[in-house]
Amino acid sequence: MHISQRTLHIPTSPIRKLAPIANRVEKTKKIYHLNIGQPDIPTPESFFKGVASYHPKVVAYGKSQGDAKLLEGIRKYYAEWGMDYAIDDIFVTNGGSEALSFAIMTTCDPGDNVLMFEPFYANYKSFTGAYNVEIQGVPTSPDTGYHLPDQETVESYITDRTRAMLITNPGNPTGVIYTREEMDMLARIALKYDMTLIADEVYREFVYDGEYTSFGMLHELDDNLVLIDSVSKRYSACGARSGCIITKNRDLQQELLKCCQARLSCPNIEQLGAAALYSTPKSYWEEVKKEYTKRRDTIKACLAAMPGVISSDPKGAFYVMVKMPIDDTEKFAKWLLEDFDIDGETVMITPGNGFYASDVNRGQDEARLAYVLNTHDLEKAMHILAEGLKAYPGRK
Ligand SMILES: *Cc1c(COP(=O)(O)O)cnc(C)c1O
Repeated sequence: MHISQRTLHIPTSPIRKLAPIANRVEKTKKIYHLNIGQPDIPTPESFFKGVASYHPKVVAYGKSQGDAKLLEGIRKYYAEWGMDYAIDDIFVTNGGSEALSFAIMTTCDPGDNVLMFEPFYANYKSFTGAYNVEIQGVPTSPDTGYHLPDQETVESYITDRTRAMLITNPGNPTGVIYTREEMDMLARIALKYDMTLIADEVYREFVYDGEYTSFGMLHELDDNLVLIDSVSKRYSACGARSGCIITKNRDLQQELLKCCQARLSCPNIEQLGAAALYSTPKSYWEEVKKEYTKRRDTIKACLAAMPGVISSDPKGAFYVMVKMPIDDTEKFAKWLLEDFDIDGETVMITPGNGFYASDVNRGQDEARLAYVLNTHDLEKAMHILAEGLKAYPGRK
């Protein structure tokens, strides 16, 4: 039987690659998971009330564009952010993941490429690979806190097949929040080359320092902007699989509707849960933010005390990218799991290499850490990491 080259070429997620080792080791050691971005904050009760309200005579297909209540909930949520979207601009998807697939499918043809700033969310390789779309990686450096290079440098990566830029803000895996100047620069480039700017803003609420500007607030971009959104991180509801894709571009809307129609509809039950989530009061984030700010401060302080470790300056989301004085983070991650522990406890980290596309060697001494543990566990985990770094035979 033939298996497509397309899928054969999609790399295994770096986040899941070490899972079989972890599963084995977990029988005898406690592992602090710094490797996955699964939030531990309880999902608001409203979700379960929304889900429980579903009891029709027939479980029929829903509307392809999305449940009316959910669409209205999303519209209102954006209005509160000062972004004026019409119902026609919004399409409900199975998580932000399907929104990303639709964005690539509708803006790029096979052989086209998308600019992404490295390190980027590793799953983007799957969404592009599935459509024979290439990633044009634009490197950013740990030494500049993974901020963007200047306009001329960014433009030097654009080819006549570059159709879109995909940017994550706040960033995964770096936690970086781009400055207004950086955002304006990307907007200028998008307009100059008439490219689509795909803005993945699933971490919009997770901002710990300063103000946050959405790309949706830059009105000059309206016709070239696609927003990717999701309830997964916002309401700690990853398993609800509910996201959306938003654009004011009328031509693109027609194509997005075709994508939605092809998959018929999203699940009715989860949409009712998600609709209820969108009426969560703002005070919910005050608590959540307080907790994550504590965690961010804890991980930052612990990293600053580790000799030879350089990290991004995480201001949002719940990740930090670190460069460590070692030979290879994949080896180090395996070693931490298999050959190291303190009192029967160890940590799991995500090797950095999978977050790059431009060069197979990039990110080899980098790792992504997710701070989705309470501060007590986080301190323990960081202590284990610090001691592991000292004891690791591949230390440079
Ligand atoms: C988690 C995540 C997503 C999408 O997740 P869904 O659960 O499919 O909504 C998209 N982009 C980034 C950067 C993420 O971290």
